[in-house]
Amino acid sequence: MEIAQHDWKSMLCGCGASAEHLARDLLQVAGGGVRQEANHVSLEEHVWSPVVLWEPAPAAASVALAALADDVEPASREWFLDLLQYVVAGEGTDGESARRGLDLPETCRSLALQGLWLLYGEVMSNRSLGAVGTAFEILTAVEPDRARLQRVREIAADWLPTCCRTGLCDEDLGVVDR
Ligand SMILES: [Zn+2]
Ligand SMILES: [Zn+2]
Repeated sequence: MEIAQHDWKSMLCGCGASAEHLARDLLQVAGGGVRQEANHVSLEEHVWSPVVLWEPAPAAASVALAALADDVEPASREWFLDLLQYVVAGEGTDGESARRGLDLPETCRSLALQGLWLLYGEVMSNRSLGAVGTAFEILTAVEPDRARLQRVREIAADWLPTCCRTGLCDEDLGVVDR
C-alpha cells in the first residue's frame, strides 16, 4: 500500500530512468515469496550511493518503514533495514534535486526518526544480530536524545554487536561501510 502511494513514474532514478522500476523492485522484496529474492535486489546507484542520494530516496525510506512496521519475513526485514541505513547515511543530494532545494539525506533522517520506536523495538527484540545491529546504527545516526540511546546501549549490551556496544560505529556518523 505504501508503495502505491508514491508517484514513482515522475521521479528520476539514479540510473537515469524513471523510478517506476523501483516500485516493482520494492514490491518484490516486500512480497518476499522466494527467500533469496532480497539478496538479488540492490538499489545502489538507483536510490543511494556512497556519495549521493537520488530523488526516490525519501519514498524508499517511507516504504522501508512501512515494511518494518508490518510483519515481513526476516530476509525482507533485514533488506529494508539495510536500505534505511543506506539512506540515513546519505552524504549528499543529486544535482537535480539539490537545485530544487531538496536535502535528501536530511529528509530521510527525519523520516527515520518517525520510526524511532519501531527501531528501538527491533533492537530490543533481539531477533537477529544483523537486524539488531543495523537498527541500532540507524538510531545512532538519527536519535537526538543521546542519553536514551546510551541507556538502550546498556540494556541491550548482551546482544548488541561489538561495534554498537562499544560505540565504535557512532564515531563516524553517516558512514556505512560494512
Ligand atoms: Zn533505477
Ligand atoms: Zn554497530
